[in-house]
Amino acid sequence: MRLSRYFLPVLKENPSEAQIVSHRLMLRAGMIKQSSAGIYSWLPLGFKVLKKIESIVHDEQIRAGHIPMQMPTMQSADLWRESGRYEAYGQEMLRMKDRHDRDMLFTPTAEELITDIFRAHVSSYKDLPLTMYQIQWKFRDEIRPRFGVMRGREFYMKDGYNFDLTKEDALHAYNRHLVSYLRTYERMGLQAIPMRADSGPIGGDDTHEFLVLADTGESEVFYDSAVTDLTFGDREIDYDSVEQCQGVLEEFTSKYARTDETHDEAVFLQIPEERRRVARGIEVGQIFYFGTKYSDAMGATVQGPDGKNVPVHMGSHGIGVSRLLGAIIEASHDDKGIVWPEGVTPFHCGIVNLKQGDEEADAACNQLYAALTAAGLDPLYDDRKERAGGKFATMDLIGLPWRITVGPRGLKNGVVELTSRRTGESEELSPEEAVKKVVAVYKKHPTGRGF
Ligand code: ATP
Ligand code: MG
Repeated sequence: MRLSRYFLPVLKENPSEAQIVSHRLMLRAGMIKQSSAGIYSWLPLGFKVLKKIESIVHDEQIRAGHIPMQMPTMQSADLWRESGRYEAYGQEMLRMKDRHDRDMLFTPTAEELITDIFRAHVSSYKDLPLTMYQIQWKFRDEIRPRFGVMRGREFYMKDGYNFDLTKEDALHAYNRHLVSYLRTYERMGLQAIPMRADSGPIGGDDTHEFLVLADTGESEVFYDSAVTDLTFGDREIDYDSVEQCQGVLEEFTSKYARTDETHDEAVFLQIPEERRRVARGIEVGQIFYFGTKYSDAMGATVQGPDGKNVPVHMGSHGIGVSRLLGAIIEASHDDKGIVWPEGVTPFHCGIVNLKQGDEEADAACNQLYAALTAAGLDPLYDDRKERAGGKFATMDLIGLPWRITVGPRGLKNGVVELTSRRTGESEELSPEEAVKKVVAVYKKHPTGRGF
């Protein structure tokens, strides 16, 4: 993309309504625009990152054997009356009437709808196990929407639902989700720590939240610093293997890590003092096992191997796809702007032309652009007639991990400058070598698919 043809409405001033850095930077980098409280338009740069995050979530869900699908945002109240949640959900549910005076709602989550689909089409244990998921807009009429996309009213969420014959099978589904979530967040350059949590209005006994440590997080968290040494890395795992998934769960949850809701001070004090940490965290996902809560209420049964009908065991599993943009920025920025991890960057590499209109500089930039594109990368070429300082400031603000700077002086010696946004370190290389280096980085740390 050539910046002169893109839509990137960056702000010079800090917007006064933004209280935290991610909100401020998303507004300044022209990624989002508020349309009303807690509801945002996703401008091109924000949309690009949102789609990359979404594609990583899809990849890892599909890898774990979960099936993508899509349910509507508008639902009839009837199913929610069956489960008892139409009354119980309270004011967070946005309710409305259609022209026939029927009660409708904007989906805050979809346990009822998926259970209805299940009971209509599945009647035998032979069709289990089954896990389906969607990535879809949700609406919760939060009392205090704030911090930009972190606590919106309309937000984008991955919600998955597993159906299993027995509790053991459903717990395997739970463990499988935990493993797939660890991989998902790591691909985005994030460390998200699974913490035992409270189940809230979804209900159920087993639940873990995934928290990204950040000073601006809304949850207070207590943990053994040893949990931050754990990484999933690029290990291969067989998602069908009960032992392997269980092993990963145990590895990642055996050290103390709790939110304030489930914190147990007596247990915490048994951790050696130098490893005890009290901090803040952003919830980027949650997994639940809730047994037969919805299948009992809504009559979702299957015939077991013995011919008897039994209610299915279920769980649901969510990732805050739009909140993740804020969480990633909170975890990765400096005083100049965002520092995108390679996994989610909107463009792979910036090209800054120090002397737009100079024949040689323009030609070198065009060649770099063509070479990066031919290698399958998506560069952003700042081809505006602007001062170098302004171009650097924009690149730093929007946070592309790599920048190639091209100027007549360097070209005389056959070199351009390759700069890492994260370290600020630059090196002079021939244009070919610079391209090679950037291509190699993304071979090692591929970015989610996008457009
Ligand atoms: P919270 O405690 O932050 O209100 P929740 O526990 O009610 O969230 P879940 O039902 O677990 O949310 O939804 C799954 C994920 O969706 C959460 O882990 C979070 O990342 C995201 N999410 C929930 N509410 C919002 C919101 N208002 N804005 C943006 N993301 C949200
Ligand atoms: Mg939650």
